Amino acid sequence: MKIALFGDIHANLEALNTCLEDAEAQGCESYVCLGDVVGYNADPVACLEKIQSMDCPVVKGNHDEDCGGDHSLEMMNPVAAEALQWTRQQLDAEQREWLARLRMVRQVGDFTVVHSTLDQPNIWNYVTNKFDAMSNFSYQFTQVCFHGHTHVPRVFVRGSRVQEVQPESVAIEPGMKYFINAGSVGQPRDGDWRASYCIYDTDNNIVVFRRLEYDIKTTQQKIMDAGLPKVLADRIAEGR
Ligand code: ZN
Repeated sequence: MKIALFGDIHANLEALNTCLEDAEAQGCESYVCLGDVVGYNADPVACLEKIQSMDCPVVKGNHDEDCGGDHSLEMMNPVAAEALQWTRQQLDAEQREWLARLRMVRQVGDFTVVHSTLDQPNIWNYVTNKFDAMSNFSYQFTQVCFHGHTHVPRVFVRGSRVQEVQPESVAIEPGMKYFINAGSVGQPRDGDWRASYCIYDTDNNIVVFRRLEYDIKTTQQKIMDAGLPKVLADRIAEGR
């Protein structure tokens, strides 16, 4: 079976729809969302309703937690805080409750999903190198775990030691463990503006990364029309 793993949508409806259409065209029969449905971009309601309608497993991201709660956003980077405050106002009480109730970690079939990392998933640490990945592997009891949060597609493999390999086609080999970042649908940060997600083909034991162009002009226009900070429209075009 082909399973689409996608996250860090961040209220970018054009990127989300493009990824979902591609996943369907690629023959995906199952979908798993890695969190951060909302935050930053201008379509939180439409993206949240889309994910709810899919009735697929979803884990909680830090922006989902921030939008679901009503704690102070003072300590946060001001642009992110402004977008979060705006997002809170767009969502109704039921939608915020749905975000607040999402689970941090889920096991789906024989793999695990988490937004940030399995060691202390509620602390939202960023896994940017193999040393960060080592901490995760100590808590990873399935062969494969998918995550997001850094908005950078990455693959860490643990055999006799932990290595990082290219996020292209990754064969899942017996005796190894894999911690795989699917990248970001709605706000990639690896210098490539195209939407990122991955497909796990469980019959052929392979994970394939997908990068897709989408209608970014519309997404940018919606950000400006909503009165959100212009830097949010600029950064999605730069992939940062
Ligand atoms: Zn995110």
